[in-house]
Amino acid sequence: MQESFRNDKKTLYLVSTPIGNLKDITYRAVEVLSNVEVIFAEDTRTSMRLLSHYNIKTKMKSYHEHNKLEKENDVLWYLENGFDVALISDAGTPGISDPGFEIANKVIEKGFNVSSIPGATASMTALVSSGLKMQPNLFLGFLPRKESEITLFLNKYLTVDATLIFYESPFRIDKTINYLFEILGDRRVVIARELTKIYETFIRTTLKEAIKIEFINKGEYVILVEGFIQEESNLSVIDLFVKYQKLGLDDMTNMKLIAKELGISKREVYDKIKTNK
Ligand code: SAM
Repeated sequence: MQESFRNDKKTLYLVSTPIGNLKDITYRAVEVLSNVEVIFAEDTRTSMRLLSHYNIKTKMKSYHEHNKLEKENDVLWYLENGFDVALISDAGTPGISDPGFEIANKVIEKGFNVSSIPGATASMTALVSSGLKMQPNLFLGFLPRKESEITLFLNKYLTVDATLIFYESPFRIDKTINYLFEILGDRRVVIARELTKIYETFIRTTLKEAIKIEFINKGEYVILVEGFIQEESNLSVIDLFVKYQKLGLDDMTNMKLIAKELGISKREVYDKIKTNK
């Protein structure tokens, strides 16, 4: 049990910073960043701009994807010696498609406090202004890189009735939109670019239309795709079976999906496939 404000243990603060607009930071974030002994930052040069803007003089140390395991002892040293520390990422909430989870887990394991200072995160910023259903939603972060893994990954969410949220780099946005259309089919999509910045743009359309767009290969993107909607399917069990086979699904998953999509039992699906109806 952690009673954050009622124990005298030292704390690792996970502090959210802006996702573009420097003003999107809380008073408490500035206060905590000013008062901790050290700030572990993903890229100290990037964060220096923010710290200078708010006249925060705290020393910074690097903590990123490639040194995060070596840095654990450094973070723990401060806590064990009576100092509070903060972790920030280049933008938004640490740990969200950024390093943060491992150190939070380690610090909890060692019995210190882990507390977050809430603020911006691109996924929620995009979702609330998307016009898509906000609950349930499923944040999936970046897609895997390899084509075979993308198909397997997206297949897991094919019939999930939740708005799906993805992060994407400007260099892969076109390809990703194509994969989403091929695998998830035609659905409403919202593409949010450069949130909170001068070029903030929302494209609210369908995946079928979105594949025709030539995206600007610059800036940052969040993609939100409408969840699965169970409709009267015009396709027979066999048609669906072949369709999902082409997507690389194994037979068991395939039959499970068809049962869900058509609202019938797996036994019925199996019988129809066996008798080729
Ligand atoms: N920790 C961050 C957060 O809380 O949102 C995410 C970091 S992740 C490495 C970077 C990705 O977040 C970008 O590739 C983009 O998909 C998304 N992102 C970050 N800032 C954004 C912005 N201002 N507009 C749109 N997408 C953004």
